[in-house]
Amino acid sequence: MANIVIVGRGPAGISAALYTLRAGISTTVIGKDNGTLGKVDKIENYYGFPDPISGSNLVQTGIEQAKRLGADFVEDEVVGISYDGRLIVKTTGGEYPADALILATGSTRSAPRIKGLQELEGHGVSYCAVCDGFFYRGKEVAVLGNGDYAIHEALELLNTSKSVTVLTNGKKMLASVPEGIQLCTKEIHSLDGDPVLNQVRFQDGSSLNAEGVFVAMGVAGSTDLARKLGAEVDNNKIVVDENMSTNIPGLYAAGDCTGGLLQIAKAVYEGAKAGTEAIKFVRAAAKAAKV
Ligand SMILES: Cc1cc2nc3c(=O)[nH]c(=O)nc-3n(C[C@H](O)[C@H](O)[C@H](O)COP(=O)(O)OP(=O)(O)OC[C@H]3O[C@@H](n4cnc5c(N)ncnc54)[C@H](O)[C@@H]3O)c2cc1C
Repeated sequence: MANIVIVGRGPAGISAALYTLRAGISTTVIGKDNGTLGKVDKIENYYGFPDPISGSNLVQTGIEQAKRLGADFVEDEVVGISYDGRLIVKTTGGEYPADALILATGSTRSAPRIKGLQELEGHGVSYCAVCDGFFYRGKEVAVLGNGDYAIHEALELLNTSKSVTVLTNGKKMLASVPEGIQLCTKEIHSLDGDPVLNQVRFQDGSSLNAEGVFVAMGVAGSTDLARKLGAEVDNNKIVVDENMSTNIPGLYAAGDCTGGLLQIAKAVYEGAKAGTEAIKFVRAAAKAAKV
């Protein structure tokens, strides 16, 4: 039976799920938390509520609605996506195969402010281990982050790089560090190199040789995830057409992660559109498999 996986349980993700579920397609919604709306106290510009409603209430109402229609909710963090004949969504706790995938992960946070980081993007600074790890075969690399996502990226790099160091930039490490990966919790002063990165300099004056630094702060953002499949991104947004399709067949994106008007009404519309297009995609694939 076809399965659609939706990453994100905000207005875009839930709206998509309402369509896929009502089309009779098994739907898994993976979300880490209440997203942007979890931080919003009062909403009074969204249709249908005579009194202001809190963001958390709105999210919970949406979740209940999708549950009533049969959605399978998973509370977990997505750390990777790959394609192996079928799309596979990887979380910290498991893997979820998908016949179509909708990314509805909100807007991507900006990169940390570290001297040299922006200037060296594409010249040693990367945002995707699975995309760029190949260029650092046999080299010393580092991953900037302090959670499960950073460890996922470090493990990916460990397959090919000479050494991998996770740099927490003064933050506490929140995930356990597997054997083979070094950990450095010092505060970073700068990323150095001209024209390409060659070292990370710390506030205490010491340094670490590194030809690649992979940024994996906090939770994997929408563009981080999209990049893993080779989907086109533009700065911090996923590039989609009018049907919410990315350039990868079966991969859709909706809500704040596609840029434009960062509002609930737009997220709900795009979720509905991505849901209806994903339905068409899985139905066409099922039909093609029969002939
Ligand atoms: C302070 C503030 C006030 C706002 N007020 C309003 C308002 O009054 N009216 C209005 O219309 N809009 C308002 N907005 C904007 C509105 O909140 C967003 O436009 C809307 O929430 C976008 O919905 P979304 O589904 O795209 O993303 P989000 O609501 O951000 O949901 C993202 C989902 O993705 C999940 N996620 C992300 N990464 C991962 C991962 N790696 N693994 C698993 N899950 C992941 C999150 O857990 C979450 O469930 C406000 C925003 C802010 C910041």
